[in-house]
Amino acid sequence: MINILDKTFVPFISKEEIETRITELAASISRDYKDSCPVFLVVLNGAFLFASELVKRIPLSCEITFIRVSSYSKTESTGEVKEIIGIDKNLANRDIIIIEDIVDTGLTMSQLISKVWEKSPKSVEVATLLHKPESLKTPIELRYTGFKIGNKFVVGYGLDYDEIGRNLDSIYALE
Ligand code: 5GP
Repeated sequence: MINILDKTFVPFISKEEIETRITELAASISRDYKDSCPVFLVVLNGAFLFASELVKRIPLSCEITFIRVSSYSKTESTGEVKEIIGIDKNLANRDIIIIEDIVDTGLTMSQLISKVWEKSPKSVEVATLLHKPESLKTPIELRYTGFKIGNKFVVGYGLDYDEIGRNLDSIYALE
């Protein structure tokens, strides 16, 4: 058990399980994009650890760039996506893979996907470490999903509780 600020979290997904799953996802992506030079759009801050573990297992020629969106306050999704920063890159005719930490309501991701399509890419897919299918409020296709989880609040492996806990090397759930 660990305490972060005023809350207690319990172990949920171990470091070993995460690494095994990331290796599998990387193998799928490497296979699917073997004839392409994809652009990974990493959604900061939460996806930084997942992205670094994922891309180093993908032996393809690729580009990696970082964007920022914000829709969350403390432990509840506000559903309101603020401006997307850093999407000024030329994505025309490129294969895009958005790397995200978690898809909860899906509101952030669906707006992000629409914004990326405005840049006229060839394709847009999503790689997310975690997905909460029961919380989804909008239909969304997630090509690469690490783990489907129930409707619980999690921290670690890039995910924070009020900015704390991102450096934990495994995932914890709110008790
Ligand atoms: P959505 O728009 O899908 O509801 O929310 C997506 C964003 O909310 C994620 O990128 C993440 O930053 C945040 N989020 C959703 N669920 C959780 C959670 O269980 N833990 C943490 N730390 N952040 C979450």
